[in-house]
Amino acid sequence: RFYSTLLRDIDHTKLKVHPATTLKQLTPYKDLVFGRTFTDHMLTIEWSRDSGWADPVIKEYSKLSIEPSASVFHYSFECFEGLKAYKDKNGRTRLFRPDMNMKRFNNSAKRIALPVGLESFKGGTRLRVVINIEEDTFNGNELIECLKSLLRLDSRWIPNERGYSLYIRPTLISTQNTLGVGPVSQALLFIICSPVGPYYKTGFDAVRLYATTENVRAWPGGTGDAKIGGNYSPCVQPQVLAAEKGYQQNLWLFGDNHEITEVGTMNCFTFWKNENGETELMTPPLDGSILAGVVRDSVLSLTKSWGKFKVSERKFCMSDIVKASEQGRLLEMFGTGTACIVSPIKEIYYKGRDIKIPLDPSDPSSNAGPLAKRIADELMKIQYDVSSSRRKSRK
Ligand code: PMP
Repeated sequence: RFYSTLLRDIDHTKLKVHPATTLKQLTPYKDLVFGRTFTDHMLTIEWSRDSGWADPVIKEYSKLSIEPSASVFHYSFECFEGLKAYKDKNGRTRLFRPDMNMKRFNNSAKRIALPVGLESFKGGTRLRVVINIEEDTFNGNELIECLKSLLRLDSRWIPNERGYSLYIRPTLISTQNTLGVGPVSQALLFIICSPVGPYYKTGFDAVRLYATTENVRAWPGGTGDAKIGGNYSPCVQPQVLAAEKGYQQNLWLFGDNHEITEVGTMNCFTFWKNENGETELMTPPLDGSILAGVVRDSVLSLTKSWGKFKVSERKFCMSDIVKASEQGRLLEMFGTGTACIVSPIKEIYYKGRDIKIPLDPSDPSSNAGPLAKRIADELMKIQYDVSSSRRKSRK
């Protein structure tokens, strides 16, 4: 028998708010360093295998109390999200496609069996519950409603200047206190928020990449498409090695033919004249080893809507880039992600030499190509403005 009511989903109508008694001093905008300052409040929602999601709670940003045996510390039962809240020119708070983050959060959670209430025990009787791996582990819309309450309470922390935003970090961890490796019975979801300044303080800053052949970020059947903590720490040592050689990011490759996968913690786009002479923007397909970036998806939709050039999700290798560079067919390359929107690439180290990637041929002093600039501009308009007629009519 199925007892569908046994486990509770997240329910924003049950939210309990305990406002902080003292509020912190706001950090001046110019002093903001990414991820260092946190707002007054946080959201927490406990989960247990026996009863599902508890009532959501908003309380003062504070330390967590977790036993050292909790499996988050031993086996990396952790996944997270990154999205931003923006204040538009009318002072209203806007979220950019949060439904996509919720979907990805659910997918990441499922990949590490966090919390997937497959089975539950009550009164000694084994009961199957309806939540299973095919379904979302929690209702993303309910979590968005809780997030909105948190943002209302912490509204003064959302900078009202273009380029500035409030970075939101939803996180889900196992709090189960056992060293056995297996599905967890207790978890904690929390959301913390951090005001951030513009990624580029003075215009764009194109990056030099180190095409990493010594390590791989993700592989078929692995976890590259999940935003789990365990994907990130192993990338830091290669990042440090690249930095020592003077490169800001790793270009992650896969396979003997050095397929291009991602840039640092961003998706990778190449704009070029392809072998058939067509102008094409391409990015690797979501084959399980690429993170389904929200900006990636937005760039694909936006550029397809222009109808100006071919837009493809397909595999491409370092040899394609080398050949296109030699034949003068490369137009631009850039990374995409929530933090920077687009990050233009100016050079790639590969097999002992630096391949020059064009920026703006009409302006040698520019640090970004025309396509990267247009994409950043259009996405910023959506994030901060209400001026477009399309959005006005939508209300
Ligand atoms: N790839 C990886 C590995 C990431 O961590 C991220 C997020 N920083 C992205 C791509 C970009 O995703 P999004 O556009 O949703 O920020």
